[in-house]
Order: sequence, then C-alpha cells, then structure tokens
Amino acid sequence: MTTPKRVFNFNPGPAALPLEVLEQAQAELLDFKGTGMSVMEISHRSKEFEAVIQTAEADLRELLGIPANYKVMFLQGGASLQFAMLPMNLRAAGASADYIVTGTWSKTAFKEASKLGTARAAANTEKEGFKGLPASLDLDPNAAYLHFTSNETIHGVEFFTEPTPPAGVPLVCDCSSDFISHPIDVSKYALLYAGAQKNAGPAGVTVVIVRDDMLERTPANLPVMLDYKTLAASGSLHNTPPAFAIYMVRLVFQWAKKMGGLAAIEKINRQKAQLIYNAIDESGGFYRGHALPEARSIMNIPFRLPSEELEDTFAKEAKKNDLIGLKGHRSVGGMRASIYNAMTVQGAEELVKFMKEFQKKNG
Ligand SMILES: *Cc1c(COP(=O)(O)O)cnc(C)c1O
Repeated sequence: MTTPKRVFNFNPGPAALPLEVLEQAQAELLDFKGTGMSVMEISHRSKEFEAVIQTAEADLRELLGIPANYKVMFLQGGASLQFAMLPMNLRAAGASADYIVTGTWSKTAFKEASKLGTARAAANTEKEGFKGLPASLDLDPNAAYLHFTSNETIHGVEFFTEPTPPAGVPLVCDCSSDFISHPIDVSKYALLYAGAQKNAGPAGVTVVIVRDDMLERTPANLPVMLDYKTLAASGSLHNTPPAFAIYMVRLVFQWAKKMGGLAAIEKINRQKAQLIYNAIDESGGFYRGHALPEARSIMNIPFRLPSEELEDTFAKEAKKNDLIGLKGHRSVGGMRASIYNAMTVQGAEELVKFMKEFQKKNG
C-alpha cells in the first residue's frame, strides 16, 4: 500500500483531525470490537455503543475536570441550533439575556436569541471592527444568563479569562472553536456548548455541558428534541444519536489524554500560534494581523497582505506547497490560519517558512 497523501490542513472547520485518530477509525472500520460490523452499523442501544458514549463522556469529564453536578450531552443541529435552544430552555418568558458581541458568531447567537425574546448586548465591538475584547461590560443584574463566545473563529479574537457575570447570573459560553484547546474552570459556567468539527471531531455532533440546576428552567411545552431536560435525562439517547460522530470525538478525547491533557495541549497550541504571530510581527508590515495583540486567538489567525492580488497569489502558491485552507472568511478578507489541536508544530513551521519566502519574493 502506498502512503496516502496528507497536506497541512489549515481549514477553519470542518478541520484537521489527528492522524492517529483517523488511522484508528480506519483500522476499526470494518469490524468494531469483534462485532463483525462497523460502529456505523450497530444499534445505538447495543452494549458496544453504550461503551463508546460512556467513555466519550468519562474522558471529556477527565480532560475538562467537569464537576459531578453537570450533565454532558451529545446533540445534533450544530452550535447554530444551540443559539436557539439556549434561550428556549434557560430564559423564562419575559426575561432578558445578556450577550457579549465580539465577532460574527456571538453576533449571530445574539440575533437568534433576539428573535425568540428579549436579549441585550452587554458589549458590542463591531464598530471597532471586531478586533479586540470589550473594554467594559454593561451587565444586567437580572439577566437570565450572560452569553459570550470564547473564541471568535472568523475574527481571531479569544478570551483567556472568562467575563464575570453579576452574582447569580449564569455564565454561558459558545466554545466551539477553542473547545479542549486549553484548560478551563468548568465550575464558573452554567452551560458550555461546542460544535465538534473545529477541534474535537467531525461535523454532526455538538457537545453541551450543563449544570444540573439549569435543567429546572426548561419549560414544559418544548418540542422534545429542543428540550435539554429530557435530552439530558436520556443520556443523549432519546432518539438515534449521531453515533459515528460520537465515536470519533471519543477517539479525539483519548488522543488528547495521550497527549498529556489540556495543559500540555495548550503549551503546543501557544507555541504554534507564537511562531505565526512572530512571522507577522517581524514582517515589517507586509503581514498585518486582524486581532489586537492582547486578544489574539491561539486557534484562528486572520491576517492581511498589502493587496488582494497578493492575497490570491498567496493562497494559490500556498496550496502548491500543500498548505491548504488559508483563505480568510469573506467578512474579514485576506488569509486565516486555523491551527486547532490537530495541527502539528511542523505544520506551523512550514507555514512560517512559506510566509517568509513569499515575502522575499513579493515584498
Ligand atoms: C463554527 C462555529 C459555529 C457554528 O457551528 P455549526 O456547528 O456550523 O452550527 C458557532 N460558533 C462558533 C464559535 C463557531 O466557530
């Protein structure tokens, strides 16, 4: 067998997965644990699948240090469905929720919540171009919850310490694109959610971590597939779950444990990000980062070149060098290097080498 071609994958999501994870999935694809079937072909109520979903949860609990009074759910509909499910479950009729708006994703979450009831922007950095973290927050002490997006995937702005809500206001976080990229203190949160396809697996499963007392807020009349309380009580098995995607996130959690856990992973993530930010900062203005230095994401690095023509050429030539997925989101323009957990230090080094050569030729 010839070795399959693997590129340096800087895609923002779906994104690169660890090679070992893909190899294990491949090795187990035709005969999962001696069943003579693929994990895609077995019942979600079988003991084999039960073991998959239970170890997925146990490993995630270990990685993040999730306290016992929290439930872990594996749901469908993406992080985008959580934009709606969250206010449907946690915001009582007539109540208002606070949103910190720091980029496209928190803006979208805020918009969805506004359709369904009352939401307020506790801060909004759009006028400043979504480049940084808010200087101050205008917080409602009676808010149903305070929502923020820990890493803005498109604008490359990341919170490294949680905002502090007023006493008694639950903190909620969309951590889709920095999920399991560094340790967090889960006990500070009432609810966290993350689509798997950025940092933790394939598209199709969304992890929701919720503190037990929040489940008492779910109103009685919600459709069952939107009802946290029922979904949590069923152990994510009210209906057929996205079984293969859950199997894949389990492999990623096991890989993350083998890497030494989230503190070890954060160290590598910081090293990769530093390499690329240094290349930007040392380019004498040829490369310009989008985010302000104090808000720079260690997951997504959007940057511009002197002209759009050069940006097009950069993307094309990078591709020829097996550096894939570097074109930025149309709303920011330019380039974006997404360097999730599965991106290796070597990948970041290759990108930096290419950036330097490209500048020498075109600067
Ligand atoms: C990608 C992304 C989303 C949307 O995720 P879907 O799973 O496609 O709905 C939401 N929030 C953040 C921070 C994201 O990066």
